[in-house]
Formats: sequence, structure tokens, C-alpha cells
Amino acid sequence: MKKKRKLLGKVFLGVLLLLVAFVLFLEIGSRRYMKKHVPQRSFDFVVCDQSKYPVDEDKIQVLKGLVGARREGQAITQEDLNRAMIVVREEDMTHINGVYCNGLIYVSEALPEKAMYYVARHELEHVFQHRGVARECDNDEFCANWIAGSEYPLGLLQTIFSSLIRAYHLYPSVWVFLYGSWRIFRYYFLGLG
Ligand SMILES: [Zn+2]
Repeated sequence: MKKKRKLLGKVFLGVLLLLVAFVLFLEIGSRRYMKKHVPQRSFDFVVCDQSKYPVDEDKIQVLKGLVGARREGQAITQEDLNRAMIVVREEDMTHINGVYCNGLIYVSEALPEKAMYYVARHELEHVFQHRGVARECDNDEFCANWIAGSEYPLGLLQTIFSSLIRAYHLYPSVWVFLYGSWRIFRYYFLGLG
């Protein structure tokens, strides 16, 4: 019994060390590699160009209603998100799952259903932050992510997997995929710049 416990302890320590080594590899590697090899992307999305996507006044009114509901402490339902989000062709939102711009919430049609709700809830939290009705928060992306994730945990997982698969096809090399995905993870999920 003692031997077994000792062995389990060693296995646990081994796994922990491997994990720490992997994180260090991603952290140090991404800092060096991304600086040298990846040009800064400009974030001008087609959906945010009003000549291509004119502002939808009906959706603006829906969002106003949800800001009012949040102010009164009401919960946000899936039906609310259905009314609030605008689903967009993947080509008009390459590299991103969703965006809040021109006062509206856009979500990529490339996402699985639950992931769409998760992303819509994340972007809606940005609306609340912008309108001053969100919970006190130091890091907008980090908070939007965890609030949306606590309401749509399956959507969060689907979003991670579908983003990784898409990134694998879009990124020019496996290193950019690995390091780029790590930078996105640490920014959105750990709240690190
Ligand atoms: Zn965001």
C-alpha cells in the first residue's frame, strides 16, 4: 500500500513537472517567436464597416431593452440572446468568433449552436460594460469571458475547440498556431496582457 502511494505521488509530480515545462515552453517560445515572425494584425472587420453592414435599429432597441433589464437585475435568457445577436458569414469575420461594434453584437455563423450563445453572451457583457451596468471589473475581456462561461459552459468548450480547429487551418505554421493560441488563451482566460 505504501509502495503504491509512493508511486502515485511520483506520477503526480511527473505530470505536474511536465505541465509546468509545457507552460514555460509556450510562454518563453511565444514571446520570442511571435515578436520575430508574426506581423501585427489590423482589426478592421467587414462587419464593423457601416457601408457593408448598416446599423440595425431594431437590434439597437433590443440591446437598449437588455441594458434596462440588467439595470433592474433581471437574468439574461437564451431567447434574449437570439433577439440581440446578428449572425454573420464567416468570410466577414475571419480570425474572430464575435465582435461588439457600432453598438451591435455580431457572431460568426461558423460556430456550433451553444458556442454562438456563449460568444453572444460575451459580447453582450461588453455592451453592459460600455453602458456602465456591468459588475465592477479590472479586465473587460477576462470578466466577459468568465461571466459568459459560467452561463454557457458547454458553449465555452465548443468555442475553444472550434477556434483551435479553425486556427490550425488559418495559421501559416504549426508554431504560429501553438504560440498564437497560447497568447489568446492567456489574454482571454488568465487576464494577462
Ligand atoms: Zn471580448
